[in-house]
This record gives sequence, C-alpha cells and structure tokens, in this order.
Amino acid sequence: MKVAIIGSGIGGCALALSLHAAGIHDVELYESAAEVRELGVGINVLPHAVRELTELGVADAIDAVAIRTAELSYHNRFGQHVWQEPRGMDAGYRWPQWSVHRGMLLGRLYDAVCDRLGESAVHLGRSMTAGDLEAIDADVVIGCDGVHSAVRGLLAPDEGPPLWNGVTMWRGVTVMAPYLGGRRMVIAGELARRVVIYPVHDLGDGTQLINWVVAVRTDDGRPMPHHDWSAEADPNEAWAEVSHLSLGFVDVERLISSCELVLKYPMVDRNPLTTWRAGRVTLLGDAAHPMYPNGSNGASQAILDARVLAQQLALQPDVGAALDAYEAQRIAPTTAVVLSNRTAGPERILDIAAERAPGGFAHVHDVIPEDEFAEIVHSYQQMAGFDPAILNERASYSVPR
Ligand SMILES: Cc1cc2nc3c(=O)[nH]c(=O)nc-3n(C[C@H](O)[C@H](O)[C@H](O)COP(=O)(O)OP(=O)(O)OC[C@H]3O[C@@H](n4cnc5c(N)ncnc54)[C@H](O)[C@@H]3O)c2cc1C
Repeated sequence: MKVAIIGSGIGGCALALSLHAAGIHDVELYESAAEVRELGVGINVLPHAVRELTELGVADAIDAVAIRTAELSYHNRFGQHVWQEPRGMDAGYRWPQWSVHRGMLLGRLYDAVCDRLGESAVHLGRSMTAGDLEAIDADVVIGCDGVHSAVRGLLAPDEGPPLWNGVTMWRGVTVMAPYLGGRRMVIAGELARRVVIYPVHDLGDGTQLINWVVAVRTDDGRPMPHHDWSAEADPNEAWAEVSHLSLGFVDVERLISSCELVLKYPMVDRNPLTTWRAGRVTLLGDAAHPMYPNGSNGASQAILDARVLAQQLALQPDVGAALDAYEAQRIAPTTAVVLSNRTAGPERILDIAAERAPGGFAHVHDVIPEDEFAEIVHSYQQMAGFDPAILNERASYSVPR
C-alpha cells in the first residue's frame, strides 16, 4: 500500500511513524516548508498521547527535552489557589504528561521519521494544491496539513477561513528560574483575561524555558489578528493586558517583558465536519478537527488519530474500509473535544471562582464546594479519553507483527 501524507507537522510525523510500526513502509510526506525548523512555543502532550509515542519508541528522546508536568493549578487574579490537581504519573497514569517546546517535539519526531523511513521519504518545499492532490500517485492520501488545510478544502470547498472566538493569544518562551518546584502548570485570572504559564525545558544551569500565553477577549472593536503561527508582537502589548494580575509565586511582568520573541495569534477553530473522507482521501489532526487550546488537547488528538488510522490501514481488508473504520472511531470523540473547548473546557473553573468571590476568599471551599470542581475536571477527562483508569487498561493500538 502506498500512502501520501500531506504535511509533516506533529500529526504527519506521528502518522509516518505509526504506519512504519504497523508494517506499512511505502510512505511519502509532502511538506510546504522548505526546511523543518523548530518553530512555535510550548505545547502539551497528555498521557494518552505519551502512551502512543512510548509504544512508537520515541519517548526517551522527547522525555530528555520535555518537562514531566506534575501539577496544574488555577488561581484568581490575586494569585489565590482556586483548584489544584496532580497531572501525568503523579495523577496515576502509567505515562507522564509532557510540557515541551513544540519545535523540540517536532524535531525529535522528524528525526525519527528520517531514521526509519529515510530522508528521501520527506519532500520539503512542496505546498500541495488541489490539483497536486488529484495527481498524486498513492493508494491513500492523508491531509495532515493543519488548520489551513488544502486537503480539507477538497471536502469542504465553501468553508472559508477558520472561525475566531474573539480571543487573542500572545505567546512566548522566557528563560527564568523555576517557580513552584519547576513542574507546575498555572492558569490564572478570568476566562476573558487570563495567563497560562508552564515550564517546557530545563536548561541545565538552574534556569528553565518557561512558556506563557496571555489570552484575552479582544473583539471589543479591535480586529482579528492575522492567523499566522509566526506573527510577532510587542511584549508590552501583552503585559498591558494582564498587568492587574498579582500572582506572588511568579513575576509575570518579568516573564512577559523580558521575552525575546512574542507571537500573536487569534483563537480559532472550525465547525466539525460530518465526514473526513472523500474516496481515498481523509484528514487527521488540525486539518480534521482544529480546536481551541483549552484543555491542551490539539497535538494529543492528532497523535491518537495517527495511531488509529495506521492500525486500521494495517488491519482492514481495503483502504475504503480502513478509512471508514478510522473515521468511525475518531470523529465522535474529537468532535466532542472541539465543542467542549468552545465552552472553555475545564478552564471555566476560573469564572466560577471570579463570579462567586470577586474580591478573593479566605478559603476557597467556603465559596465553591470541592465536588463541583472535581466533577468539571473529571467529566472533561472522560470525554477527551484520558481518564486514568480507562487509559491504563485500554488495549494498545499497536499492530501485532
Ligand atoms: C509553525 C507552527 C507553529 C505552531 N506553534 C504552536 C505552539 O506554539 N503551540 C501550540 O499549541 N500549537 C502550535 N501549533 C499547532 C500545533 O502544532 C497543532 O495544533 C497540533 O500539534 C496538531 O498538529 P498537526 O500536525 O495537525 O498540524 P500542524 O502542526 O499545524 O502541522 C501542519 C503541517 O502541514 C504543513 N502544511 C500546511 N499546508 C500544507 C500544504 N498545502 N502542503 C504541504 N504541507 C502543508 C505545515 O507547514 C505544517 O508543517 C503550531 C503549528 C505550526 C504549523
């Protein structure tokens, strides 16, 4: 079977590795970028996807450059603890949660693709158009070409650009001393004006690369920022949005204002499709189900798609049956994540706290029962497929060889 993968981002590379592991070796990747550069800022890989990368044999290389996130805490604007939960192995998973620089993650996946499939399997500088896709010599064509997918354009030609929810994100990575033990993800403020902070890499000299995102509702007459992953912005613009936050345990002003490269991006997604398939063509990752980053699920869902699609291509009697089986397994859960993220996923905890205790609290459980928060967090975990009990016991997607 000959497989063409359009896009060698995280989803495309995870798919190439998954196909190779499932015994499908005639695989070619077509990537629009002229070189694979370590672009982006921080990204999270949740335990359900770390499991897949572990079974693909690339976990050690990524673990060496990532942070094993141990805790996630939510805070009000005064830095008071609203909710805290363990993450990764500290939460009972058999696999860690990684917070990692997107570029480093992609670099490790891309190296593994070149090692296993050969560098000649990747065709760089090939921005594929609808015409190219029709002419491509392959039994199956998989669009892993991200939120602006050309492949998706074949399935949904009238869809138009991604949908903006009115939130602008300023993002950056800053070298700083660790805060709160060096393995803590923090989300603070209110949904309409919040900051997300997590370390992504130990530099080995007592400092870390600390990722931050300022996410603010800006549809108050301000235009939608350009949707380009590399659009740069002034750090002062980002700090001005959250200068009312006073967290105590981390110097947010220094974190933002000493950042060398600040990127600005609108929070966008697309309406879920009812099918990803057109003949021998299907979609994967952001091309199939672009989602808001609430809940840190984008890269993880792309990796799960890759594993399920490779398994079905290896096991089903023909390509059509495999693409249908893949879609049957993946379209409902990813649609659920897209829709849940529109209601802010577990991060809506921030607004519950701000509404009930706008001036802060003496003790959080005086104003918000613990069970209420636990229910929000647990139901999101189950819906997104990373409930520890379910994940730890689930059968592997690896194909017996
Ligand atoms: C440059 C860049 C930086 C990013 N930075 C971050 C970040 O810092 N934090 C974060 O959470 N998410 C980031 N993302 C998005 C994140 O990688 C995805 O949400 C997630 O990992 C799902 O991956 P994906 O492979 O489906 O899509 P992507 O990672 O977007 O990969 C899509 C790939 O397809 C290629 N491509 C696009 N169109 C074509 C075409 N017509 N022909 C051939 N190739 C094409 C792109 O160059 C890219 O390599 C970034 C994406 C990109 C492209």
